[in-house]
Amino acid sequence: MTATKLVIGNWKMNGSTAQVRAFGELVRRGWPACEAALCVPHPLLSAAQTVFGATPLRWGAQDCSADDDGAFTGDVSAGMLREFGARYVILGHSERRAVHGETDGQIAAKVQRAVAAGLTPVVCIGETAEERDGEQTAAVLRRQLLQLVRTLGSDMASIVVAYEPVWAIGSGDTAAPGIIDHTHGFIAATLAFHVGLSAGTVRILYGGSVNSRNAGAILSCKTVAGVLVGGAALNPAEFTEICKAAARCSAEETSEAA
Ligand code: PEP
Repeated sequence: MTATKLVIGNWKMNGSTAQVRAFGELVRRGWPACEAALCVPHPLLSAAQTVFGATPLRWGAQDCSADDDGAFTGDVSAGMLREFGARYVILGHSERRAVHGETDGQIAAKVQRAVAAGLTPVVCIGETAEERDGEQTAAVLRRQLLQLVRTLGSDMASIVVAYEPVWAIGSGDTAAPGIIDHTHGFIAATLAFHVGLSAGTVRILYGGSVNSRNAGAILSCKTVAGVLVGGAALNPAEFTEICKAAARCSAEETSEAA
């Protein structure tokens, strides 16, 4: 497991240029030693590039097309995101699956295009409350992962997986660290079995109601390579505290490994 924890903020359809500048101010005053990025709406990418460019904070987007160019009104290609310096793109978020009807196949095609363009896709997988209650979690995660494996093959090593139980997103109902640990172990084992990737090759993040109060307990799980943060990523002070927790846990894991 890589020791540097990754914190990805998902602004969803929120934020403004003024908010990008407010984060920039904060980061310039000092930033914890963790990898962090804010995935902003497309119109804010230019501001993110200008403001975060000379800081340790990275930036990214929340979707991209499965095509390079063409007659796809309203869509944005992975190459266009790269032009604005984006490093990450969130793909397969449960809101895109539910609201836009994105399928596992469409998501895998977008992920493949993002990797080809040099982006790091943060691919969201996770079960709904009904699927959890019906003891379908493992089957759902396996289905979502295997579509990615079939499409990407060895390129799986270039992606980040975010385990986001749908019932935990925006609900305040965070999965318990023991459940997260168990589920991340299952995801790692599935990738090891089907792609031969050893644990830690693919970073597995947890997402779902992460905040400054629960981040430390979640990030201290060895199977958790970082967190994907929604609501709390809009608040500079909250986001900074989560990044500090990530830096602390990274340092602890590094010293344990030494
Ligand atoms: C998300 O939407 O990816 C997310 C994790 O949201 P929240 O942190 O608000 O639950």
